[in-house]
Amino acid sequence: MAALAVLCPLLVLALQGSGLWTAALQSPSLVIRVYPAANGVSAAAGVCAGTSPPSFSAGDVRRALFESANPKGSTAGATFSRCSSNRTRITAATSLVAEPVYLFCSGANDDQQWNIDGCSFEHFLGIAAAADAALTARGLTLSRFRHRVYLLPPSDACRGFVGLAQIGCLDAFDCRAWIGPNYWATPQSYVHELSHHLYLAHAGKYVDNGQGGRAFDQYADDTCYMGFCCADRCPNTPHAWQLGWISVQQLEGGLARGQALPVALPSQSLTAAGAGLRVLPAWSPGAPPLFVGYRTRHRGDAALDPSLASKVHVYSANITNQYDSVQTTWQAALEAGGSWEQPGSGLVVRATSTGPRAASVTVCRRGGMQETAASCLNELDWDCNGLAGAADPACLPLLPKRTTRRLAAHETAPSVQHSWE
Ligand SMILES: [Zn+2]
Repeated sequence: MAALAVLCPLLVLALQGSGLWTAALQSPSLVIRVYPAANGVSAAAGVCAGTSPPSFSAGDVRRALFESANPKGSTAGATFSRCSSNRTRITAATSLVAEPVYLFCSGANDDQQWNIDGCSFEHFLGIAAAADAALTARGLTLSRFRHRVYLLPPSDACRGFVGLAQIGCLDAFDCRAWIGPNYWATPQSYVHELSHHLYLAHAGKYVDNGQGGRAFDQYADDTCYMGFCCADRCPNTPHAWQLGWISVQQLEGGLARGQALPVALPSQSLTAAGAGLRVLPAWSPGAPPLFVGYRTRHRGDAALDPSLASKVHVYSANITNQYDSVQTTWQAALEAGGSWEQPGSGLVVRATSTGPRAASVTVCRRGGMQETAASCLNELDWDCNGLAGAADPACLPLLPKRTTRRLAAHETAPSVQHSWE
């Protein structure tokens, strides 16, 4: 679950604004099962102190990874293909689960000592280097495989460890991930770690800190597999957009005060085109972009927690392109009639309906805390409560008994741009 630092910031800057991409996990993956052998070559002499033999077979690993090995079950391949509309895939045809690699109990890599039961990055690097050398000696051409996943053996120190991965995957670096001993057969552990290779950071939210305050938990967004392991679900709206799996409707500024813009949101679980909304509140410097998406229990979200399904989810995220490895923040889940306001910007997102395949929302920029005679006369929704003019009870005492509808010039509806298809 933990992630390493982003690599090569200069290259990241150069690639900003390059538009749509499709995450390239079609590249072959190599899965390496590490066996802690006391004699360094086989299981004959027993395992190293503090370790035990791996408890999962190659078949278990394949059934966690490939749809072809487990057509009706949960697999990493199914999550990738179903959540991405087949844009990103991991298959048995392009990936290999290698025969076990037997390693000594300790060694050295670039003068750095490692232990087979070590549970930190330095040890993982040493184990990976030793495993790579053993595979190369066996005749395997490692450069055939873009992504390498090292399955760590059971050890006292690493008992609760889920996984670790390099963020991003550039040509100058090996793309390595490590999976903890209890998670070799857990599909979502692979999905999470391999998605770090695709530049995703974690998906969190603010939670009660137990002391009357709030603290950010980088894993606490249950609507995204970049949160806590291990329930099957797709990525959240900003991450799906970052991966190129959905396009979003974009609203960058252009929203006048008191104006409520209706937006139709197809379920992101079913539809890729326009299946989300990105709003940049340009009138409020420093306010992060908002992402709004709708999820239903279909395809890769078939097992989505019922408490999260058929809800409009609101996130904030400073992601601007596919290489932006920044965390996302879940803000709210809205049922029909529910609303959420972004602090500072006065931007109000309101769910107006939720259905089996789509939802509708309005995005409103608050003009003030309450309606005024002018806002009521001009049929603006100054307080963004979803009602305007004579339809808003707050306007009744402010309006003349008979009003003539009069629209201000700035009330012209802004357009929502469909882009990044
Ligand atoms: Zn992680």
